[in-house]
Amino acid sequence: MKIAILSRKKSLYSTTALFEAAKARGHEVLVINPLRCYMNITSHNPTIHYKGEKLDDVDAIIPRIGPSITFFGTAVVRQFEMMGTYSLNESVAITRSRDKLRSLQLLARKGIGLPVTGFANSTKFTEDLIEMVGGAPLVVKLVQGTQGIGVVLAENRQAAQSVIEAFQGLKANILVQEYIKEAKGRDIRCFVIDGKVMAAMERRAEEGEFRSNLHRGGSARVAKITPEERSTATRAAKIMGLNVCGVDLLRTNHGPVVMEVNSSPGLEGIEKATGKNLAERIIMFMEKQARSKSTRTKGKG
Ligand code: ADP
Ligand code: MG
Repeated sequence: MKIAILSRKKSLYSTTALFEAAKARGHEVLVINPLRCYMNITSHNPTIHYKGEKLDDVDAIIPRIGPSITFFGTAVVRQFEMMGTYSLNESVAITRSRDKLRSLQLLARKGIGLPVTGFANSTKFTEDLIEMVGGAPLVVKLVQGTQGIGVVLAENRQAAQSVIEAFQGLKANILVQEYIKEAKGRDIRCFVIDGKVMAAMERRAEEGEFRSNLHRGGSARVAKITPEERSTATRAAKIMGLNVCGVDLLRTNHGPVVMEVNSSPGLEGIEKATGKNLAERIIMFMEKQARSKSTRTKGKG
């Protein structure tokens, strides 16, 4: 197959790992910066050009679209889908996963356990909003945040009120969420490929921090997950429509809750923590799936 990895940098661990795994399995691989693609949107012969050349013989793409380029990046994925190119994760599913509120609503609809979460536009009823999620301490999150940035723990009601009002004053979309204290600054990342949890790691926040993101100084180790955690992760992946994703769980007194589902999960932390070659697994899955013109949505949505 000819596989294109849509990534802004070839030197990133995940991009390199996927590149090498695909090469080792005998595929032709190229790394394409999605921001350098340009396209014509026509119903007869949609094409993508990259650095002056037409890209018309790619069989499959691996989107590694960073959150800062979701808008244009997913448009490029959609264009490939229109051309009949197989995409590891479809554009609609990536877009869905990038909006925390939308994701939580979809998961809630299907009965997945979630932290109690509130959302409001107006600053008028902040007190009631705080009450709705069970009072302080609580977590305030930017809807489109990532890597722990824009996630704030408000220890008491007064702090909660000020933080919520400050974010709303900036016209930022936020979620207000029950703080899961018993998680003790830890979460579980389940790496799902094709409806199966292929690896799981526990991330622990640094001393004095509640966010376990590796970008915020968290550390990772292999995790042993329960059957309930396994089924929660695979159901969440299915609901989001993602073939490959990272499902983040918090362990609560009443079982696992899903915090978020990531459509471009990093490989470095989890491959190092678990010793599993996930890049190779992803390529093997693509070999099974990627028959040319087999994309489901053809860029719908
Ligand atoms: P991001 O997309 O920026 O990673 P998350 O929603 O994953 O945002 O939150 C970042 C980290 O903060 C999580 O990995 C977790 O450790 C912690 N955290 C988030 N929400 C909660 C919560 N409701 N209760 C306890 N800890 C939380
Ligand atoms: Mg996270």
